[in-house]
Amino acid sequence: MEPRFRWPEGKQCAVVLSFDMDGECVPFVYDRPNARKRLTLLSEASFGPEVGMPRILRLLDQYQIPATFFIPGFTAERNTDVVKEIVKQGHEVGHHGYLHERPDMVTEEEEEKILIRGLEVLEGITGVRPRGYRSPAWELKYSSPALLKRYGFIYDSSLMGNDIPYRIRAGDGELLELPVQWLLDDWPWFGFQSVPPLGTGISDPAAVLSAWSWEFEGMYRENGCFVLTMHPFVSGRASRILLLERLIRFINGFPGVWWANCAQVADYCINNSVCSLQEFKNLD
Ligand SMILES: [Zn+2]
Repeated sequence: MEPRFRWPEGKQCAVVLSFDMDGECVPFVYDRPNARKRLTLLSEASFGPEVGMPRILRLLDQYQIPATFFIPGFTAERNTDVVKEIVKQGHEVGHHGYLHERPDMVTEEEEEKILIRGLEVLEGITGVRPRGYRSPAWELKYSSPALLKRYGFIYDSSLMGNDIPYRIRAGDGELLELPVQWLLDDWPWFGFQSVPPLGTGISDPAAVLSAWSWEFEGMYRENGCFVLTMHPFVSGRASRILLLERLIRFINGFPGVWWANCAQVADYCINNSVCSLQEFKNLD
């Protein structure tokens, strides 16, 4: 039987570890009016780049896994050494807004300015122009793909319309989509705030390992692209680093897994024309 999706060298599936290093944007996401007053919240946010990141980079190095880090410009400016270290270790840096602005909450003009500012900051620090974009909170609007295309992005990773890469319309052209899903995000499992709106809670890492292992095994069968999204201020905590390591070891027990970052998957998909075009449904 033909595989559902053709991965390189006859691999069974792809596994992508992605990290949204929201860092010092987190207080603005949680509590914009009071962001600059809330020192404890800022300290929780800074835990990501300062303490979580060295742990994450160490783990990736140990298992020789290439990853993608989506970073808002505001956070990158405050953690230039971390951003440089990410690139030095061979990982990819992607665009994640400037101050973590959701495209659906700003005008098209604002969205373009934010896109330019984020590009300038990241390129200024790394010397490399980001080729991938993940929208803050995974929200896009209908005009966003065309804007991304215009600024030279080759892929987006914010939509949920499949569990293999697919092509989407982007103005007159197309963009590659590396789809995500809430099940494979650390936030719904571990996100917590002390004041409303509260997160859903602090889950048992064993339960999360179980859920992610089940999803991996299912997607392995389906020739899927297992894109895991983590936040260093969430998954950089000690027990969750252990969780990630156990997941890596579980996945490594399966033959034919392609560990790749977003850019590697995107390059492969584009160069080999393996993806289908998936149209957006018209709701009018
Ligand atoms: Zn984010």
